[in-house]
Amino acid sequence: MIALNKNRHSFTENDTIFGKILRKEIPADIVYEDEKAIAFHDVAPRAKIHVLIIPKQHMTCLRCMEPADGELMAHLLSVINKVADKLGVTEKGFRVVTNAGEHGGQTVPHLHFHLMAGEELHDF
Ligand code: 5GP
Repeated sequence: MIALNKNRHSFTENDTIFGKILRKEIPADIVYEDEKAIAFHDVAPRAKIHVLIIPKQHMTCLRCMEPADGELMAHLLSVINKVADKLGVTEKGFRVVTNAGEHGGQTVPHLHFHLMAGEELHDF
């Protein structure tokens, strides 16, 4: 169960699977990277295109963002749009989802946005 706590871990102490991807300890199919964010294909895609966009700064979930994270949030949203452009899905459209906590269905305790596209998405 993922608690919606506001604890943050440093780059090296981020013990989540995404922390390992960020440190390049385990491989990922990376589609975009800059100094604050990274995007990579989901290992178990639930749409023809399914990419995860995450901040390099660890925070557990959307609920764990502070007002001071406003600039980072704006950056992440711009990265989502850049990734959508790069994947060529902007014209047909895409869906962005973030899960928070147990009832949200979150399984990895590092904030991430799912970008799903490449086909018509029905269930929500
Ligand atoms: P959540 O359920 O927390 O919203 O989403 C976590 C996502 O991370 C899931 O869609 C899951 O398939 C993906 N995921 C889990 N482990 C790995 C991994 O090692 N590599 C990649 N690329 N995706 C992962």
